[in-house]
Amino acid sequence: MKDKIRKVIQKTYSSGLHTEVHELTSKVINLLGLSDEWANYVDIEVRNIMNKEPFNKTPIEERVLFLPHCLRDAESCEGEYGEKGLICHKCGRCDIMDIVEYAKNLGYKGVYIVPGGSIVYNIMSQNKPRGIIGVACYEELNQAMKKAREEGIPSQGILLTKAGCINTKVEKAEIARKLKK
Ligand code: SF4
Repeated sequence: MKDKIRKVIQKTYSSGLHTEVHELTSKVINLLGLSDEWANYVDIEVRNIMNKEPFNKTPIEERVLFLPHCLRDAESCEGEYGEKGLICHKCGRCDIMDIVEYAKNLGYKGVYIVPGGSIVYNIMSQNKPRGIIGVACYEELNQAMKKAREEGIPSQGILLTKAGCINTKVEKAEIARKLKK
């Protein structure tokens, strides 16, 4: 279903008839007869597709990745907190280790494991990335993508597949797909 949704968003956006996020989101939900549970996903993917061109043109070395610290293994994470969030000590008990390594190998300027939006906004203003990928729950992603837009930074968002405050989950293949673009 996610592939189908992305294709319909792309096609509808390419028609040039819908240029506002909420308008395109409603159009796609109606076209596909989607239930409310898809609304947040469609909303984020609409913004991803609208940002796709400038984001893809941003060199990887100028992009940063933000991961939420709730992805860590809450019971036995060996990481430590610093000024810019959690420093992963690569114990391998959660997906963070693999994702950080993958992004760094691709050449990302920075990967930050953050406990909340305020650190994201500080890093945005201090490090001045030219492209951002963020993984988060809908509420955090919505705010961060709005902020990035205000700052003129193209962003891509990825929703957690299991949200909550601890031991959250994300689709690693989806992150890899977006990181490589
Ligand atoms: S891999 Fe890193 S972030 Fe994940 S639990 Fe281990 S030290 Fe913590």
